[in-house]
Amino acid sequence: MKFNILTIFPNIFNSYFSESILKKAQDKKIININIINIRDFTNDKHKTVDNPPYGGGPGMVMKIEPIYKALRSLKKKNNKKRKIILLTPAGKQFNQKIAKKYSKLDELVFICGRYEGIDARVEKLVDEKISLGPFILNGGEIAAISIIETVSRLIPNVLGNKKSLIEETFSSTLKSNKSFIEYPQYTRPEIFKINNKKYKVPKILLSGNHKKIIEWKKKKSKFK
Ligand code: SAM
Repeated sequence: MKFNILTIFPNIFNSYFSESILKKAQDKKIININIINIRDFTNDKHKTVDNPPYGGGPGMVMKIEPIYKALRSLKKKNNKKRKIILLTPAGKQFNQKIAKKYSKLDELVFICGRYEGIDARVEKLVDEKISLGPFILNGGEIAAISIIETVSRLIPNVLGNKKSLIEETFSSTLKSNKSFIEYPQYTRPEIFKINNKKYKVPKILLSGNHKKIIEWKKKKSKFK
C-alpha cells in the first residue's frame, strides 16, 4: 500500500517512519511512504505556500495552486483504489472502522494543513475530510502519522504476530455501536510496590489454567 503525504514540513516524518514496525514494513515493501514537499510546486523564488485571508482575519491561509499541482503530480493507475484525504478538525472523526476501510485500498493521499488552515476550495480536490479528534493541532502531520500507523498495522504481514489484532481494543463493535475494550495486561514482576502498597498480578494469570484464563480475559474485556 502506498501512502502519499503533502506537507510543507517534510522532515517531520523522517525519524518516526525510520523506526520499528513501520520501518520494517517499508523494508519488506509492504508499505511505501512518499513525502511530497508542497513548496516544490511553487513558482516564485520565495516558494510561497500561504497568503493572508481574503476578508481579513488572523494568520495565513495555505494557497490552493501548489496543492493542486502536487496532487496532479501523483500519477494514478486506473485499476488502483485511491482516496485523497484532507486533514482538518472539521472532518469526520477518524476511528478503527475507517482504518479498516482504508486498509483495503491501494493508495492514500493526505493533505496536511498548517497556519490558519487551507483555502476552502481544496475541498473540491479531495474524497474525504478527516479529523484526528475534537482538538486543534498546529498541522495535519501528526494526524497523517497516526492514520498511517493505524492503517498499516491492519495490512497483512505488517505485524509480527497477526493474533495481536484479534482481541485488540476497538477490533470489534457491537450493533449498539459499543466498542470492544481489551482486558488488562500484565508482565513481570508479579508484585510491584507503589507508595508502599503492593500491586499484584491477578493470581489466575499465573495459574497455568488456560480455560480459566480465557474466562477471566472475557470477563475483564468490556464494551464501551
Ligand atoms: N483555523 C483552523 C480551525 O479553526 O479549524 C485550524 C487550523 S490548524 C492550526 C492547521 C492545520 O492543522 C489544519 O489545516 C489541519 O490540516 C491540521 N489540523 C488541526 N487539527 C486537526 C485535527 N484535529 N485533525 C486533523 N487535522 C488537524
